[in-house]
Amino acid sequence: MYSTHRIFQRQPLILLLSALLVTGFFATTLSSYYVSKKAILDAIVARELPLTSSNIYSEIQKDLVQPVLISSTMAHDTFLRDWVLGGEQDGEAMAHYLREIKGRYGAFSSFFVSERSASYYTGEGILKRVSPQEPRDAWYYRVRSMQEPYEINVDPDLANRDALTIFVNYRVFDFDGRFLGATGIGLTVDAVRRLIEDYQQRYQRTIYFVDAEGKIVLFGNQSGRQETDLRATEGLRDLVDRILREKSGSYQYRSNGSEHLLNVNYIPELKWYLFVEKGVDSALAEIRQTLYTNLAVCLGITLLVLFLTHVALRRYQQRIEKLAATDKLTGLLNRQAFGILIDKAFADYRRDPRPISILMIDVDHFKTINDQHGHVVGDRILNQVATRFLEGLRVSDIAVRWGGEEFLIVLKSCDLDHARRIAEHVRAAIEQTEFKAGKQSIAVTVSIGVSQYDGAEPYEATISRADAGLYAAKNSGRNRVCTEAAS
Ligand code: GH3
Ligand code: MG
Ligand code: MG
Repeated sequence: MYSTHRIFQRQPLILLLSALLVTGFFATTLSSYYVSKKAILDAIVARELPLTSSNIYSEIQKDLVQPVLISSTMAHDTFLRDWVLGGEQDGEAMAHYLREIKGRYGAFSSFFVSERSASYYTGEGILKRVSPQEPRDAWYYRVRSMQEPYEINVDPDLANRDALTIFVNYRVFDFDGRFLGATGIGLTVDAVRRLIEDYQQRYQRTIYFVDAEGKIVLFGNQSGRQETDLRATEGLRDLVDRILREKSGSYQYRSNGSEHLLNVNYIPELKWYLFVEKGVDSALAEIRQTLYTNLAVCLGITLLVLFLTHVALRRYQQRIEKLAATDKLTGLLNRQAFGILIDKAFADYRRDPRPISILMIDVDHFKTINDQHGHVVGDRILNQVATRFLEGLRVSDIAVRWGGEEFLIVLKSCDLDHARRIAEHVRAAIEQTEFKAGKQSIAVTVSIGVSQYDGAEPYEATISRADAGLYAAKNSGRNRVCTEAAS
């Protein structure tokens, strides 16, 4: 039968607490995440990536630079030059020489193109004659006129069913510095790709080669790269010129929503750049997992604290409200609580007009009881009278200690007739109850005024009529119920 009205508001307190917990927890969790993230990235950029990059670099050196050295040896070979100067007489001797080279170094193909005869020699003999009109021979004329001693070129190999091949094309000169032709060996791209793939597996990095124009010339089979031009890669586009200029260094860029760390090394022998890349996401997967766990724990603790606070506050609030709304002596509601509840009862009526009645009850000749038995006994009797009332009421009814020995009861869903019967029941119950002072029994009776809300008046008017009923009951002899109907 207690008020549901809140004397103080819990929400602002809970909100403040949530804000404190959330900012506290989440700020520390996130800041520690960002600190570790920075430490991890710094470690990758400063140590790990350059280290693996130089490891790969030295392996590449071994695997890819060797062909350049072999080609260089061929270009300076006395046999080859003497053979050309001698008029390219014994074709089989040349074929044998090229077969030897190819077999010894595990190359895919070996060749010599003569400037004088335009013959393209392989281990199997003369393959063709090169011609300036043939687009597929363009490489030879390029090599013939270039400044550098050699170039590396990726082309289909005519001698090997057009398999994509990395050629080292070395310029050959006679002993007086006259141009004799071009020689060198070829490696299949596939073999080199497998090599790169192997490095990628071992080092868990993405590895590829880029030429001086910023084109990707070689990458592993599973690199996932589609573009062959770095300038077509989002995030790298703006970095390309700087990377090519600086020749080696560490970089960071964003592409497809993820962060990449990049280490670049220029390989002068190949005239290519070695790119070694690592996705930040995979490097951060572990601490990200920790972050999520921490956030979940924080959230859990926050919710638990909020829940416990909510429960504690609610209990505390209920106790305070009960104390504030109750009359100490009788345990009934006091007049402050009544003010709130009656407003609510009448507001409910407007939504759902069910009759409301009021009983105004006053103990008869209570002054005499006090005088004869003392105040303490009077108090006890008031308490017992209140208990009697409550026994006859529903939970929805409102029982109030209105004044000294006056009580007011609001009966919901109760018309005047019904209210009168209840009043009579209460009156009779009090009359029949044996109140005691020590061994002496005290007769207690009450007078009751009853009224019904007319559906429109202010509730004070209904109370006034109940009061008038009570006045009538007192005047007509007490210990009775009187009704004052609405006028
Ligand atoms: P009536 O039948 O006309 O109502 O007579 P009455 O004596 O009950 O009426 P009156 O209003 O003259 O006296 C009420 C008395 O109730 C006076 C007051 O001292 C006493 N009283 C009021 N509050 C308390 C209380 O909390 N405890 C006790 N013991 N007495 C109280
Ligand atoms: Mg009285
Ligand atoms: Mg009185």
